[in-house]
Amino acid sequence: MELKPVNNTMKAPESNFTGDVYVTPIKQTEEPSRLIVSLVRFTPGARTNWHSHAVGQTLHVTEGRGLVVNRDGTVIRMRHGDTVWTPPGEEHWHGGTAENFMCHLAVLEGTGDGDGTTWLDPVSDKDYNGANVG
Ligand code: MN
Repeated sequence: MELKPVNNTMKAPESNFTGDVYVTPIKQTEEPSRLIVSLVRFTPGARTNWHSHAVGQTLHVTEGRGLVVNRDGTVIRMRHGDTVWTPPGEEHWHGGTAENFMCHLAVLEGTGDGDGTTWLDPVSDKDYNGANVG
């Protein structure tokens, strides 16, 4: 066994995220494993762009309150302890609520030539605010 070093936390790129989001890698692909695990911290109002994952993604909330939304308008409100699965190819976004931080573990599998994520358009303020109502 091996105690792994703590990885540096990186600010998530503006090209794929809105607002302040910080990513700490926990597990990166290392053959033969394809497992990728990251701790992702969203400040209030921050969110991913729309995107999908080639072989799906499991989100497990460790702190705060957040949202996961898909293209048909389904909104899942999640809080610490909750786990959400997004199936392969399903376009979605996730982030903190307008008034709360949200930290989640993101668990997914690489595809051999990357992490299998297809990044799309940013989530507009209108769509984000709409998902926060109710
Ligand atoms: Mn995702």
